[in-house]
Amino acid sequence: MTQITPTVDFDQDGKQVGWLKVPHSVTRSAYGVLPVPIAVIRNGDGPKLMLSAGNHGDEYEGQVVLTRMIQNLEARDITGTLLILPALNLPAALGTTRVSPLDAGNLNRAFPGDPNGGPTWKIADYVENSLMPRVDVVADFHGGGASLDYRPHASTHYGPDASDDHKKKSLDLVTKLGVPHVMIFERQNKTEGLPDGAIRQGVISIGGEYGGMGSVSRAGVQLVQTAVDRLLAGLGIKGELPENLPEPQILRIGGDAHVYAPEPGVFEPATELGDSVRAGDLCGHVWFPENPSREPVSVPFNGDGDVVCKRHPGRVEAGDCVAHLASPWQA
Ligand SMILES: [Zn+2]
Repeated sequence: MTQITPTVDFDQDGKQVGWLKVPHSVTRSAYGVLPVPIAVIRNGDGPKLMLSAGNHGDEYEGQVVLTRMIQNLEARDITGTLLILPALNLPAALGTTRVSPLDAGNLNRAFPGDPNGGPTWKIADYVENSLMPRVDVVADFHGGGASLDYRPHASTHYGPDASDDHKKKSLDLVTKLGVPHVMIFERQNKTEGLPDGAIRQGVISIGGEYGGMGSVSRAGVQLVQTAVDRLLAGLGIKGELPENLPEPQILRIGGDAHVYAPEPGVFEPATELGDSVRAGDLCGHVWFPENPSREPVSVPFNGDGDVVCKRHPGRVEAGDCVAHLASPWQA
């Protein structure tokens, strides 16, 4: 079994910028490795936080903020330990794709991973079993990807067995990040995401979607930067939280939140991000330009809530998610 080897020492004080060397032996490169970037910034004992982006390669706001952070932050600025991974699924980040072009792996569906699997599964295994046990909190920044556009939100995730203390700490942290909308995910029967790995490891999981459409949202970059600054302050790693923080709106995604295209065509949306809708309201029409005498098919919403996510490309196949809702969360 060929394992991932880090070029950094996790117990050493100071700032190190190095790589996780993921074995990848191919015709072009018999003894090759994929160098997944990692920074370790440590100043003595204290709180421990892992920050990641590029879990999905086509989601960029977190990649920008974490890369800038590695350049600007020094060990003397902090207390405790930061692990920063700005391009977690490196092949996908370089390929501008959601999934890895090397093994078709969707990293956020590959947990708990496999040390003998393809590169994506090796990375998942290393994150869950070698990195997460070193930290108290993991924050993984997403951005919708090429196929979706999001109204930005921060999120936290916990499993059905989470203690009240774990839930309270998760909620306290995520509601102080300066993101006006917060999503709570109570994970049931899910195993394969990075947050599920965090749940298994007893680590507080913070996430969120900060943009979309495969672009770099300026507002999203600012929100991720604020969220990172507040995470460092809230955990006692660097700085102080501002006083009198406004309460965000807390939301959940219900079982009837997602809307799917019923057949191939061009989807014309009937709503904008942030619109409030009821079950039965029109989500959009599928048109058939290749058969222009055919009437469009109406696609309704199945539940009540706010439109927080919309599909970006116009052309759809049957089964493409065209929108999803979120509704107020009740504990
Ligand atoms: Zn994502």
